[in-house]
Amino acid sequence: MDGVERQMMRTGFYPGSFDPITYGHLDIIARAARIVDKLVIAVGQHGAKQALLSVEARVALIEQVVKPIAEHAGVKIIVTTFDGLTVDAARKAHAGVVIRGLRDASDFDYEVQMAQMNGALSPDIETIFMAASPATRMIASSLVKQIAKMGGDTSLFLPKEAEAAVRAVLNALSP
Ligand code: ADP
Repeated sequence: MDGVERQMMRTGFYPGSFDPITYGHLDIIARAARIVDKLVIAVGQHGAKQALLSVEARVALIEQVVKPIAEHAGVKIIVTTFDGLTVDAARKAHAGVVIRGLRDASDFDYEVQMAQMNGALSPDIETIFMAASPATRMIASSLVKQIAKMGGDTSLFLPKEAEAAVRAVLNALSP
C-alpha cells in the first residue's frame, strides 16, 4: 500500500440523508472521528425519500453541530453533498472507508447487501459498520420528523440547532 492509499484508508466517508441530523448520527460521527484522520460527511442529493430540509440547510446544520466534535477529536471534518454512487463520491473525496451506522436487523440486511454490491463495484473502497449506541439506537430522522409534525418534544433526539431548523420549516409550511 502506498502513501496515497494509506491516506485514503484513514479518510472516512459518512453518507446519509441527515434530514435532519440526529443524536444518533452525531454518535456515529464522534466515534468515527476517533478512528480516522479526516471525516467527510456527505449529504445525498438524490434519495427516494421526500426531504423536509433543503440540502443546503442540512449541510449548514451539520457544519454547525459537528464543530465541537472536530475540535475535541482534533480531526478535520468536512461536510459536502453528493449524488450518484456512494463509492464514486467517496473516491472523489479521496476517502477509502465508507462508514455506516447499524441500528437493527433491518439496517443490517440492507446495509450489508449494499456494502457487498459497493465492494463488487469498487474493491478499493471498504465499508465499516458501527453499531448504534444503546442510548441513541432508537432514533430515526423519519420518526423524529413525524413527532415534530405532531407537536411532540424532539429535544431527546435532536441537537437544538436541528430542532430549530425543523420547527422553522414546519412553521413556514403551516403558519
Ligand atoms: P440514509 O438515507 O442513507 O439511510 P440516514 O440519514 O437515515 O440516511 O442515515 C445515515 C446513516 O446513519 C446510516 O448508516 C444509518 O444507519 C445511520 N444512522 C441513522 N440513525 C442512526 C442512529 N440512531 N444510530 C446509529 N446510526 C444511525
